[in-house]
Amino acid sequence: MADEETNVIIGLEVHCQLDTKSKLFCGCSANFRADAPNTHVCPVCLGLPGALPVLNKNAIEFALRVAKALNCTFTKEGEFCRKNYFYPDLVKAYQITMGDSPLATGGYIEIEDDAGNPKIVSLTRIHVEEDPGRLVHMGSKERGHYTLVDYNRSGIPLIEMVTEPELSSPKEARRLLSKLRATLEYLDVFDPEKDGSIRVDANISFRGHERVEIKNISSYKGVEKALTFEITRQKNLIRRGGTIARETRHFQERKGTTSSARSKETATDYRYFPEPDLPVIRVADWVETIALPELPDARRDRFMQQYSIAVGHARTITGDLRLAEFYEGIVDVGATVAASWVADILIGELNYRGMALETVTTRAQEFKNLISLVRSKTITDKAGVEVLRVWLDNLYAGDRTETPAQIVARLGLSREDGSSFRVIVEQTLASNHQAIADHKAGKKGALNFIVGQVLKETKGKSEPREIHAMVAELIGE
Ligand code: ZN
Ligand code: MN
Repeated sequence: MADEETNVIIGLEVHCQLDTKSKLFCGCSANFRADAPNTHVCPVCLGLPGALPVLNKNAIEFALRVAKALNCTFTKEGEFCRKNYFYPDLVKAYQITMGDSPLATGGYIEIEDDAGNPKIVSLTRIHVEEDPGRLVHMGSKERGHYTLVDYNRSGIPLIEMVTEPELSSPKEARRLLSKLRATLEYLDVFDPEKDGSIRVDANISFRGHERVEIKNISSYKGVEKALTFEITRQKNLIRRGGTIARETRHFQERKGTTSSARSKETATDYRYFPEPDLPVIRVADWVETIALPELPDARRDRFMQQYSIAVGHARTITGDLRLAEFYEGIVDVGATVAASWVADILIGELNYRGMALETVTTRAQEFKNLISLVRSKTITDKAGVEVLRVWLDNLYAGDRTETPAQIVARLGLSREDGSSFRVIVEQTLASNHQAIADHKAGKKGALNFIVGQVLKETKGKSEPREIHAMVAELIGE
């Protein structure tokens, strides 16, 4: 690792939409995504004069769950305040948020650093605030003719979580976000599948240089990409003797680049003042009544203990609530083999096709049957992967009729007894005298070359180990 990279300092500010039924200060439904613009609005979330906010208790309950799970310290009195600034998507010209008295402070998230060791990342604070509306630029942002405003999002509850600048690489940042997402999912307060449900601002600097803030990144991958780009940009600038400007930058998701938005304003005066229409919230007793479910780390440890699976597998599987539940649902097919099929094979095949996990979770029995076919040695591991691919391709195309067993039958993938491949082995040996000679001369890999030729011929129906033994036997070893 280059010197500069160990000197990278990253901090994150994460906004997540809390998955409540209604908005933070009114009864409007928060389930707006499938509906026409400006259909989930009322005088409160439209900021009409005289309208009064009423706090959604569920949103606070959700935030308390998060703060408790992240080991935060609860403030005695959480206080809402008005953050004043004008923007077309902010109808009241102020955002109701929390200032000096957030819900909770401190706390931490445990991740793995780039060497795979546990690392504690401290949290500064957690608070709740309202989401503004959404601007829809017609045409490009730079040269659009006009902009539309949709207030359906106005007043959706957000939880804002700020980390201390303790992350040292873009990968660590991504791991922190994954852990956070998993934790929020386990707590049943967040739906990561919802478009725009997470937004991240990332601070990044090199030790001894000014800090740059990248605003409003809306995907996990985007955060890693934006930070990676910034490291290169800042590193080059420093090497050329330039100065890093303290500024805000935007991330261009498609290009994977950042660009200067505006130089850091002289600490914008938001004129925070207490929100007179909402009471302070005292949560001490409330927090006591909140029972937490099993969280990702605890489930990871339990899986390793109860099912004797490797830490890598356990981490991957418990890193996603639905994946963890899916795994536990099929574990009786064989814990270790199921872990390997889920973590090493299934996830990759789903990602490759851009398929949702649900496609498979709703057909868990068929997936189990596939693993059973491999376990019972009806098919080889290799043929099993082939069957999985065909099965997923079918599902992708909307064909849900063919079971794994039927695919095996149709493609003739049943494992055959090693002896039936004897002819192929003999033929392969006959046409590879050179490789045999190389092997006898002690050349590494020569035998594997021959075995590979046979495996290719047998199209995944043979067991590599058996072929290996047969080759060795026929050349007199
Ligand atoms: Zn409303
Ligand atoms: Mn905020």
